[in-house]
Amino acid sequence: MSYDGGPVAALRRIAFLLERGREDTYKVKAFRGAAAAILPLPPEQVAAAAADGTLTRLPGVGASSAKVIEQAVRGELPERLAALEREHGGPLTGGGADLRAALRGDLHCHSDWSDGGSPIEEMAFTAIELGHDYLVLTDHSPRLTVARGLSPERLRRQLGVIDAVNDHLDGGFTLLKGIEVDILDDGSLDQDDDLLAQLDIRVASVHSKLKMDAAAMTRRMVAAVHHPRTNVLGHCTGRLITGNRGTRPGSQFDARAVFEACVESNTAVEINSRPERRDPPTKLLELARDVGCLFSIDSDAHAPGQLDFQVYGCERAEDAGIDPDRIVNTWPRERLLAWANG
Ligand SMILES: [Zn+2]
Ligand SMILES: [Zn+2]
Repeated sequence: MSYDGGPVAALRRIAFLLERGREDTYKVKAFRGAAAAILPLPPEQVAAAAADGTLTRLPGVGASSAKVIEQAVRGELPERLAALEREHGGPLTGGGADLRAALRGDLHCHSDWSDGGSPIEEMAFTAIELGHDYLVLTDHSPRLTVARGLSPERLRRQLGVIDAVNDHLDGGFTLLKGIEVDILDDGSLDQDDDLLAQLDIRVASVHSKLKMDAAAMTRRMVAAVHHPRTNVLGHCTGRLITGNRGTRPGSQFDARAVFEACVESNTAVEINSRPERRDPPTKLLELARDVGCLFSIDSDAHAPGQLDFQVYGCERAEDAGIDPDRIVNTWPRERLLAWANG
């Protein structure tokens, strides 16, 4: 079969499909590394190396990537790509497609500045390819050292990088400034307030002491959602139901009190789309719906291909009968920003 996408696109698509199919990241790294290695080279140089079989002499290009490049350079659909399209290219869910089509962006993702696997610009390019108008970059906050949370200094530097990325885009898509800020034990947020004020969107999440007793956890979460800078309550129970990090039960708290606090403070409840989270659980999702909460359907992607996970959350929101207008990322960018900074 013929293929005219070129070798970089083939390698990126392979990596995307592996991530979307939840394959191990070490498999993905080889292809993303090879794409990054040949991207700056003149196409004639890549074609010449492909023709004389010397691609693997380029730093970052291994044998399986070289095969993909050789086939793409010859204008053939790379076998590896064809196989992955069959394996991982189909729809992820039976439902949720209509709501997914109504989403204009994603409010929660990570780059390799914290615990994500890819550079900021790769996350942005993939979001563009998925049809988004905006993507909020929400790397972790300082206390989450295991995830290389960003110090105030690093976050300030990241804001400059985001400006530079946007300068290179045509304005149809915007990379927005955000954070996934840790909710500390007393409900305060783990970043300087003047810095939080410079961001477009702040997702606040509990990542520590998940087993705190219910009364204390309720106070902690209510305080966090009432914080004037908080826009989204991330993965509210913290449960893990499957996957290579193991499983754990959700935190215990007075969900009605927390969701009522969300309504009062105009904070959205996140529908976290990651298959190992499915957070909130269905009963809590329905409670938040009945209490009158706003929602944000987020991928919480740690790799570009995981940006496609949003449809899992869309399927759950559709099943729960949630009105799309109560989902803040169906809103145009201006409305979203007015809500988040009003
Ligand atoms: Zn999180
Ligand atoms: Zn996250």
